Amino acid sequence: MRVVHDAPGRDRATEPGGAEADAAGDPVPDCQDCGACCFADNPGHVPVTGDDFERLGPEEQTILTRFEANRCFMRTAGGRCINLVQEGARFGCAIYLRRPAVCRDYERGGAACSVDRERLIRRLAGENPSPG
Ligand code: SF4
Ligand code: SF4
Repeated sequence: MRVVHDAPGRDRATEPGGAEADAAGDPVPDCQDCGACCFADNPGHVPVTGDDFERLGPEEQTILTRFEANRCFMRTAGGRCINLVQEGARFGCAIYLRRPAVCRDYERGGAACSVDRERLIRRLAGENPSPG
């Protein structure tokens, strides 16, 4: 994601490139009303590059990330990226300005966005979609 938490005044839905509809013609929600791409049962959902790691403070590097051999990932907890913040029905990223490249490059309204939103809908409905 993709969603905003520590950048008041910015909203992914209003940023350039934000799509009104996906390839199927379905409307794309405001990211802060969605958060689907930050839900992840897969512990490798959010890879962290060396540059991503360097953007984090020393304490964040320890608390937020974990290593598998020489590969680094954001930690997950409860099926969500550890940085996903929920306030009521609104979602945000606690490290929005320092979020990893995979989150910066994620295309709102793109194919992955559609898949992640569908996966979350099925998960909330009690189905067991493949981990994302
Ligand atoms: S760091 Fe986590 S919460 Fe933030 S945008 Fe990336 S996946 Fe979402
Ligand atoms: S899945 Fe798409 S609409 Fe939802 S938060 Fe991520 S980028 Fe935004």
